[in-house]
Amino acid sequence: RIRFDRISKSYGPLRVVDKLDLDIAKGEFVSLLGPSGSGKTTLLMMLAGFETPTEGTIFLDGEPLNDVPTYRRDMGVVFQSYALFPHMSVGENIAFPLQMRGIGKAEIGERVTRALDMVQLSALRDRRPAQLSGGQQQRVALARALVFEPRVVLMDEPLGALDKQLREQMQLDIRALHNRLGLTIVFVTHDQSEALTMSDRIAVFNRGKIEQIGSPREIYDEPRTRFVAQFIGETN
Ligand code: ATP
Repeated sequence: RIRFDRISKSYGPLRVVDKLDLDIAKGEFVSLLGPSGSGKTTLLMMLAGFETPTEGTIFLDGEPLNDVPTYRRDMGVVFQSYALFPHMSVGENIAFPLQMRGIGKAEIGERVTRALDMVQLSALRDRRPAQLSGGQQQRVALARALVFEPRVVLMDEPLGALDKQLREQMQLDIRALHNRLGLTIVFVTHDQSEALTMSDRIAVFNRGKIEQIGSPREIYDEPRTRFVAQFIGETN
């Protein structure tokens, strides 16, 4: 379970996240939805350990995370720009973070096999990224995040670069993966329909605060503020 307790983040005079509380249950799929600049990415970066809160504490299963370094947080991270190494094969790309930690060759091989299996890319292990479609490349990035078999996966607009059809396929794939592995997923998006189709709960962000949080149905049928109603009503 993840708990954000009165979390604020300021850059100089700019308060980007403002005394925010949020609880995420184990195995839940939560989307952080809101316009550009509303603080979604910043919240994710603090959870991953790439940024430190100015105020407040983040807890994972009751333990404060403040002094826990990124690599000990048991979280996988996937960004929109997935930056695969062009000169390495799919398998080598996925193995890379394991090699950096000095894990033995045999174990790396097994872990890469399992990660490729999770995203159904086993057949493409020896290809180079340039020989893959955008959706396949994004799945390699996903496999690279899953290779440590984390309990929590953080995704920041992971499908932003894909065309509509691939995007919809990946939405289904990620949701299926979530169900199959029992992962906790925190998913940043500014796309309402994406959040509505994928999430157990949606947190709607506005200026560093959560304007409303609830199931897709609640957010869609019972928006509690004008902001939520307008944001959900906009088409992409
Ligand atoms: P987007 O969808 O565009 O990523 P977001 O909701 O994720 O938007 P954030 O990326 O969290 O928003 O950014 C919130 C605000 O914080 C923005 O105004 C941004 O310019 C500012 N910001 C983010 N990082 C820094 C930084 N390192 N230094 C100064 N300002 C920053």
